[in-house]
Amino acid sequence: MAYTVETKCLHQEASDNIEKAYGAISFPIYQTATFAHRGVGESTGYDYSRLQNPTREQLEKTVASLEKGIDAIAFSSGMSAIAAVMELFRPGDHVIADADLYGGSVRLFQKISEKNGITFSRADLSSEDVQQYLTENTKAIYIETPTNPMMHVTDIRKLSEIAKAHHLLLIVDNTFMSPYFQNPLELGADIVVHSGTKYLNGHNDVIAGFTVTADQELAEKLRFIFKTTGACLAPFDSWLVLRGIKTLALRMEKAQENAMKLANWLEGKKQVTRVIYPGLASHPGHELMKKQSRGFGAMITFEVESSALARSILSRVKLIQFAESLGGTETLITYPATQTHADVPQEEREKIGITDRILRISTGIEGAEDLLKDLEQAFETA
Ligand SMILES: *Cc1c(COP(=O)(O)O)cnc(C)c1O
Repeated sequence: MAYTVETKCLHQEASDNIEKAYGAISFPIYQTATFAHRGVGESTGYDYSRLQNPTREQLEKTVASLEKGIDAIAFSSGMSAIAAVMELFRPGDHVIADADLYGGSVRLFQKISEKNGITFSRADLSSEDVQQYLTENTKAIYIETPTNPMMHVTDIRKLSEIAKAHHLLLIVDNTFMSPYFQNPLELGADIVVHSGTKYLNGHNDVIAGFTVTADQELAEKLRFIFKTTGACLAPFDSWLVLRGIKTLALRMEKAQENAMKLANWLEGKKQVTRVIYPGLASHPGHELMKKQSRGFGAMITFEVESSALARSILSRVKLIQFAESLGGTETLITYPATQTHADVPQEEREKIGITDRILRISTGIEGAEDLLKDLEQAFETA
């Protein structure tokens, strides 16, 4: 049955054939490493929890359904999901990746994938023509949209047409939007990855990751890598993410509403030299996002007049916490230059605009007036 996204977050589809006996409303946690066989060659469908676990499977089916894929895999972190995707490639393969990406993904590509013989071209794929970077060894295009932290918006459908014409995989990290606001597979992407640590779980209490695909062959390849390399999400953490997803719709709406209010407030502030939030009409990706997404998300990047002010704000916020990460119920402020993007070489960082005057806020679901009051006092210089 085709439910709305809000309903799908709660009535998580796969539970039908499992644990009907007691009528549990909350899906049980199968805290077991292994499963007994009824006889030789007879399996209950579950053999060993690295391969399958009912709680994890329930979560995977839920995420697959939210992302409009045929299979989702729940990893023990976003990075292990992305590392598993990179196992699809072999030495000599070439990947075109956006210039502005999550710092951990840049570190993975530069320090591990390159050592394994994969080469990369990095470009601003929201504005440059990807085709000039194609080589005969190009196998994939890897993007985030909006990007982290500069919030560039890339046309997923357009990129997917180019990818299809050249038999490349289009891989989209959809962490910033969550499946509530954006479904890249519907726009032609081949693989979606998520840090489930962020909006999907949403409570700043679990590290998790996902791959999702709508292609049978890719799904089988990724399942093989998953079971072989083994970064599987534990049953209890799977349950926590399932529980988090129940309120995904409400959380995304409220966080976005707060982001809009903060972005408007920041735009009116004299010491703020730039506000980058796709929900603002001033953002160059605003119209494109209206076409390919159902919302603008809750991530705001802004630039202040001096690095001294940036540092002062970080030390003065009280309700808003100075911490890495995003997408949870609590509002967090990050300093990309020394935190999320510290491992991106300085030259590269400055080229894409991540200066020491840039701050990033992930709005949570607090009362907006409390967040505004906290920011107001944080901007006051002693
Ligand atoms: C956090 C994050 C990751 C990495 O996920 P972990 O769960 O921290 O391993 C990847 N991509 C984006 C966009 C992220 O924000």
